Amino acid sequence: MARAGKLSSSGDQRENGRQQILDVIRSAEHIARIDIAKSTGVSPATVTAITAELLGAGLIEEVAPEATSEARRGRPRVALRIRGAAHRIAGLKVSHHVISTVITDFVGNELASHEMPLVKGCMPVPELCSQIRRALEFTCQKGGFSIEDLSGIGLGLAGMVDAERSFVYWSSSLIERNVDLGKALAEVLPCPVFLDNDANLVAKAEHLFGEGRTCDNFIVITIEHGVGMGIVIDGQIYRGTRGCGAEFGHTKVHLEGALCQCGQRGCLEAYVGDYALLREANISSGSDRHHTLASLFEAAENGDSMAQSILDRARRMFAMGLANVVNIFDPTRIILAGARLSFDHLYSGKVIDEMRHWVVQVDAPLPEVIVHDWGDLMWAKGAAAYGIEEVTAQTVKEFVHAAA
Ligand SMILES: [Zn+2]
Repeated sequence: MARAGKLSSSGDQRENGRQQILDVIRSAEHIARIDIAKSTGVSPATVTAITAELLGAGLIEEVAPEATSEARRGRPRVALRIRGAAHRIAGLKVSHHVISTVITDFVGNELASHEMPLVKGCMPVPELCSQIRRALEFTCQKGGFSIEDLSGIGLGLAGMVDAERSFVYWSSSLIERNVDLGKALAEVLPCPVFLDNDANLVAKAEHLFGEGRTCDNFIVITIEHGVGMGIVIDGQIYRGTRGCGAEFGHTKVHLEGALCQCGQRGCLEAYVGDYALLREANISSGSDRHHTLASLFEAAENGDSMAQSILDRARRMFAMGLANVVNIFDPTRIILAGARLSFDHLYSGKVIDEMRHWVVQVDAPLPEVIVHDWGDLMWAKGAAAYGIEEVTAQTVKEFVHAAA
């Protein structure tokens, strides 16, 4: 909603009205004009005028009165809803081993999905762009349409991403730093791409259809190859001024500590990320026998004290990080989102207990901590939701230009 928020500063009431009305229709699923007026405070005459424009543009459609429950109770009223066929939107999440893609209609209903394995996790810009295009082509083919039929693409990438400019300062998926990825993708894709940090898109997905639905102030912590964070304050994602905020994984937990994949030392991620644990285990054992976390877990279970101490340190570092998050933000809720099976040690009751111990103690309940086990496709759905939001905002802007 960041860009929708920006619209209000332009002072264009009509533009705001269109956005507001579309948002209300979207969240209500279907709603009569008079109820739109009640819930937005926009006058019924303006609601009628704006909804006529939106109907004319094919963004919304009328629902026959018999299809609504209100109609059965009394006077039939024509309701409005978002027109699914108005746009096809793609959401992608690039992770180290796979690109997950979901294509939805304009309502958000899934039309096709695909998970394309990646041989390399970190690559040059042109290669990543062509892999993204391939993933989109596969998914479109599955859905029986072409990549040219897409109206917008939401894309989630790990790292420091300025969503406003679609600019990547640094990502563990890219060899280069300071990449105008929006521009590079525009050269290979037929429609606008809206880029964001992947954890922000998980936060968006949690807010729209996950554990954050009933909550306007919450923090999402994602754990996979790295450690990410999404901050939702008053229902909005907080990204920081340069788009570099919420880098939980790169908060420092040790002076002159372990080397992080960002190039600095002592980051939390360098103690809890999968690559960090395997590196430590292989250095300590003087071998390269640990290629997956599963083998490290197995060694710990079999009494290997080195493996146990590496996992124990990861747990304690993570608990300390969580306590710091609570001490800074005091959120209603913390959602731990990720592939649970691979990182079970970080979701244990022991971690939560330790976190509680380090949180500043007052006579009030602590924020609840919820574990939400997402698959990669759910991250992609968050990206699609972002794409829908941005395409909506762009369409509303185009209205204004067309009317000017
Ligand atoms: Zn770092």
